[in-house]
Amino acid sequence: MAKITLKNLRHAYMPQPKGPEDYALKEVDLDWQDGGAYALLGPSGCGKSTLLNIISGLLVPSEGQILFDGQDVTQLPPDQRNIAQVFQFPVIYDTMTVYDNLAFPLKNRGVDPATIDRRVREIAEMLEVNEMLNRRAAGLSPDNKQKISMGRGLVRDDVNVVMFDEPLTVIDPHLKWKLRSKLKELHQKINRTMIYVTHDQTEALTFADKVVVMQLGEVVQIGTPVELFERPAHTFVGHFIGSPGMNVLPAEQRDGAAFFQGQQVALEGPVAAGTSGKIEIGVRPEFVTLGQTGIPAQVRKVADIGRHHVVEAMAGEHKVAAILNGPAPQQGDTVHLQFRPDQTRVYADGWIASTPATEESAA
Ligand code: ADP
Ligand code: MG
Repeated sequence: MAKITLKNLRHAYMPQPKGPEDYALKEVDLDWQDGGAYALLGPSGCGKSTLLNIISGLLVPSEGQILFDGQDVTQLPPDQRNIAQVFQFPVIYDTMTVYDNLAFPLKNRGVDPATIDRRVREIAEMLEVNEMLNRRAAGLSPDNKQKISMGRGLVRDDVNVVMFDEPLTVIDPHLKWKLRSKLKELHQKINRTMIYVTHDQTEALTFADKVVVMQLGEVVQIGTPVELFERPAHTFVGHFIGSPGMNVLPAEQRDGAAFFQGQQVALEGPVAAGTSGKIEIGVRPEFVTLGQTGIPAQVRKVADIGRHHVVEAMAGEHKVAAILNGPAPQQGDTVHLQFRPDQTRVYADGWIASTPATEESAA
């Protein structure tokens, strides 16, 4: 097991990249701590698989280094990196039995038969495929094939990292949830570094202790699920995480204060000196309430989602979502929006630009 360091990593699939837009990975500097449960989260095409394939050695980066415990492995082929990788679609041997498929990575490394048998049965039990150990893989459903594929990734206990690249894509929705919690459980049991790639925020937030959010070939934030929810470092993270995502509203700033629709909006703290660029206010729907005073808006939609209502109101031409626990307004009502100050942030060109008030200055 090892700490994995990515240093000044860049990758372009084209031979002579010119600008940043030619790079599938722009500049990645990242430490993956030994034993961590990580999710790599971002929309399709943002570079997740590229990053994973660079770690596993399927791809050599155009620039930069990969270190395992400080040792440069950038040029090492995959089989010398001691990594298990599970792909989006099952990779198994159709002609072998389920048992032999699971045993293969161990046999290949000369593990003794008793240990192989124990490990195969443990993993099969965990994935609930123990009933089918003697069946040939060819006849299995896609779900089960993918479970075997995941099992092959998990069966060795000497790997540096187990990486899953959107492994639940082919899995039935009701099984997805179950497998995800199994993986989490397994991580807690074996404490091996795991990197779980997904474009689905729910998958990322339920599996990982730390989530690495990517957009357009760049890492935009690394944090715990709570950190990503509470204080998105970039408006993209605000949008991408949450349901509905963070309200991001065009604003102006003067002397450390921010204004939306001509009204000053109380913030978590001052806007950093020297802030310029496109200014926006970010506040999550969970922290928008209705009051007697505030920013006037017209209710456009009200959705009852059980324990609360999601209200969509128009402040001028800008849509603001609010999640309300109490009584909800009606469509067409005029309301006044209030933003909870300590949860209201300023972004400049997408990046967070306000700083939280310290305990003393808030007191
Ligand atoms: P993700 O896994 O997040 O969906 P990828 O890493 O697969 O993203 O792709 C990142 C970018 O690199 C995309 O623009 C994609 O089209 C491009 N890309 C991926 N693989 C190749 C390849 N083999 N050749 C050329 N371009 C590629
Ligand atoms: Mg991918």
